[in-house]
Amino acid sequence: ALTAVSKAQQTQEVFIEYDVTIEPNADDLRLLKDFHRDGMKDFFLVYQPKLDVKTGLIKGAEALLRWQHPKLGLVSPAKFIPLLEESGMITEVTQWVIHETISMIRRRGVCGKGIVVSINVSTRDLTDLGFVQFVEKEIKNIDPKCIQFEITETGFIDDSDRALYALTKITEMGIGCSVDDFGTGNSSLSYLSKFPVGEIKLDRSFVFDITKNARHLTIVSSTIELAHTLGLSVTAEGVEDKDTVELLRELKCETIQGYVISRPIAEDEILEMFFAKSEH
Ligand code: C2E
Ligand code: MG
Ligand code: MG
Ligand code: MG
Repeated sequence: ALTAVSKAQQTQEVFIEYDVTIEPNADDLRLLKDFHRDGMKDFFLVYQPKLDVKTGLIKGAEALLRWQHPKLGLVSPAKFIPLLEESGMITEVTQWVIHETISMIRRRGVCGKGIVVSINVSTRDLTDLGFVQFVEKEIKNIDPKCIQFEITETGFIDDSDRALYALTKITEMGIGCSVDDFGTGNSSLSYLSKFPVGEIKLDRSFVFDITKNARHLTIVSSTIELAHTLGLSVTAEGVEDKDTVELLRELKCETIQGYVISRPIAEDEILEMFFAKSEH
């Protein structure tokens, strides 16, 4: 079942790795503004595959944003996404990511193969007035089942009615929604009770050491049970070794993602993985 894993390990690219110590400052934020006005030319997407635990096949990928800074080099999204959120630029960037991902899906003929590509969307995007209309227009270009939104909580949702409206509309369009980094935000459980989501993504801070950490194992196994009781599926992120894959399989976790399968990779490489799947 892990053939997809060993195959993926042969295609690790180095150029998409960033230096975690790089800290962009206020000047870089100014650059960020110029570049995104400049057609986002210094941004690009990489894709991290998702493995169907039952079949051992690649079932999709997550689009992850990269910023090639002219002086700093590659900057981690963990560093620049907060800058974008503070400055309110995140919504335009999210729209760019959605547009790029949908274009890629169309151009590379990804639809109709059972592959789903996930896009990260922050709660701030959901409360933006133009968001639903933007998604409605973009989704006309593909089958809505080919994409999924991973919703990340970014601070306090000051307009949860608006967020609920947006999520309901998005679900009605046929786009799946998942709660990202589940367990780390302070309103994760209220998400599950309020919002129409179909999946939770267990945060890697619980997942990575479940073969050694009994507390984390309990948290992960009870959360999987909770999700299943609510009719939701589960993706575990940050899986770094094969023993953890086996343990998650026993716990009936549907999907895994992590360095054990592959780091985020370039478009051509993820396409190779998608097509390898369809040959089976
Ligand atoms: P996330 O959505 O939870 O994405 C998972 C992050 O964990 C990615 O980091 C991924 O490279 C990393 N990761 C995956 N597997 C492993 C593993 O086995 N071990 C370890 N140590 N790490 C692993 P990345 O690409 O740096 O992204 C960080 C965060 O930035 C993402 O967390 C997401 O919240 C945010 N982000 C990335 N792209 C976008 C985007 O287009 N829009 C928005 N709004 N946020 C984004
Ligand atoms: Mg995510
Ligand atoms: Mg996540
Ligand atoms: Mg995470």
